[in-house]
Amino acid sequence: MNQEEFFKKITAHAKEYGFVFPSSDIYDGLSAVYDYGQNGVELKNNIRQYWWKAMVQMHENIVGVDAAIFMHPTVWKASGHVDAFNDPMIDNKDSKKRYRADVLVEDHIAKIEDKINKEVEKAKKRFGDAFDKEQFVSTNARVLGYKQEIEDISHRLYAAMENNDLAGIKQLIEDLGIVCPISGSRNWTDVRQFNLMFATQMGSLAEGANEIYLRPETAQGIFVNYLNIQKTGRMKVPFGIAQTGKAFRNEIVARQFIFRMREFEQMEMQFFVRPGTELEWFKHWKEERLRWHLSLGIPAEKYRYHDHEKLAHYANAATDIEFEFPFGFKELEGIHSRTDFDLSSHSKFSGKKLQYFDPETNESYVPYVIETSIGLDRMFLAMLSHAYTEEKLEDGSERVVMKFPAALAPYKVAILPLVKKDGLPEKAREIMEQLTPDFMCQYEEKDSIGKRYRRQDAIGTPLCVTIDNQTLEDNTVTVRDRDTMEQIRVNADELYTIIRNKIAPKKI
Ligand code: ATP
Repeated sequence: MNQEEFFKKITAHAKEYGFVFPSSDIYDGLSAVYDYGQNGVELKNNIRQYWWKAMVQMHENIVGVDAAIFMHPTVWKASGHVDAFNDPMIDNKDSKKRYRADVLVEDHIAKIEDKINKEVEKAKKRFGDAFDKEQFVSTNARVLGYKQEIEDISHRLYAAMENNDLAGIKQLIEDLGIVCPISGSRNWTDVRQFNLMFATQMGSLAEGANEIYLRPETAQGIFVNYLNIQKTGRMKVPFGIAQTGKAFRNEIVARQFIFRMREFEQMEMQFFVRPGTELEWFKHWKEERLRWHLSLGIPAEKYRYHDHEKLAHYANAATDIEFEFPFGFKELEGIHSRTDFDLSSHSKFSGKKLQYFDPETNESYVPYVIETSIGLDRMFLAMLSHAYTEEKLEDGSERVVMKFPAALAPYKVAILPLVKKDGLPEKAREIMEQLTPDFMCQYEEKDSIGKRYRRQDAIGTPLCVTIDNQTLEDNTVTVRDRDTMEQIRVNADELYTIIRNKIAPKKI
């Protein structure tokens, strides 16, 4: 199955099994806006909780905040979003399709990366066990040529982006001979800047309405609350403030399902540190955040760091944690060392001193900030694409199983009476009642047990518990594992511990 087909299957499965629906589906949807269905909302809540627990509950020096989506318009002046939250866009005159100019170039780079990968695969086959990848990519002439090509293109792109040189970006697209994927033509318009913020009016016009924005990131809600929280929480540097919530961006090209949405959710943490220590903390959070991903038990080769060459003017280090989505490695999370840019800028615009008095050094300073920022919906997509598995079984039949990390699965356990009579449903409900306060359980009594297993596989329930006649005699049940399909007979009283162990995160 090629990657495109695979991705189509995931999106179809997400709809068919109540994970993700297009927004306003009965009106044929709204571009790049999605709703989460009955299973999706559970998965999404679980991801959010897993993050919150790791970031807030497990760190004494990190607290949460829940700031409003609407903020004072000057916030976005101070943050730089009004003047600079732009993407360069370009239209193809033949297909009338609009693209992000930088993404066209990045896609071109990805194609060269593919060529490198193909060379590696070929060499691997040729050399067999003796193959040393590191050595090959650092010495093979063809690979080195591709690498140089990538470096030259990146350099030109980042320089043009940094200098707001829109003509330079267009020239690059022309020089590389990039064609529109739809029309195949090189008939491009000029590159223009496009601000990504959604604006709306607050108050009626008669009152003299003010233009305000839907927040394009949750981070600013943290910065404007820095002083409130530091003072009322008696927080000592280093400390962090975490927030999850909706953000809105009028993305030029919104595609790839929930990867790039116009309304999405972020999980962000801003960590305030003493100036001069920020790069140590940056390294710390870079490692810590990857550990969080790996604690879900997803193979390490699905992740990679992408250190930024082009830094925003206020940042002194930045990296992305990329995940291998069905359409290639793409940003899942960003970790940025933002210096004192945000707090200093808000100090200037608000006239309030946003400082910290350090009792250890007896001095006041504006703390530096390390930010970790992950898209909840992107994490959701990462989990969907990691989990989706088609398997051929020994009896020749096939199953689709969502191998979600058990901690994130929408339902932890399905309770299945073997038949709908003989007191089995009553016994099953009695067992379920003991588990529902702690775990999401689903009760199912319709259809054959095989069919019920398939349905639970399709929504990723890690454990199925079957209640049969023997249960009435000795209180034992059959527990079936989603991934191995192995079954064990245990006493119903052990279920709590079995489920707990199943969903415990991996220690990294
Ligand atoms: P990209 O380069 O993909 O546009 P970004 O660098 O603008 O992303 P950040 O501003 O660093 O992204 O936002 C932090 C995180 O928020 C990203 O790593 C991503 O997971 C998520 N995110 C950003 N934009 C979107 C979007 N339009 N839809 C879904 N998630 C998003």
